Amino acid sequence: MTRKQFVHCPTCRRSVAWNPELSPWRPFCSERCKMTDLGAWFSEENTIPGVELPEELIEEFREDGTGTDRREE
Ligand SMILES: [Zn+2]
Repeated sequence: MTRKQFVHCPTCRRSVAWNPELSPWRPFCSERCKMTDLGAWFSEENTIPGVELPEELIEEFREDGTGTDRREE
């Protein structure tokens, strides 16, 4: 249970300790790598196939977006 775990930074592939105190930016090694990865993701957002939603569905999301805990009504 106390075995240390490591992950590889998705941006630069360095080993990152899976520990909140040692690696606050895990799975990234640093804030810089985290921001780099997020930036890449956002810039590629429009090129990912299959994420486009039908307009009707988007409308439903908008109408439903105001209430947070109304699923049981
Ligand atoms: Zn990194």
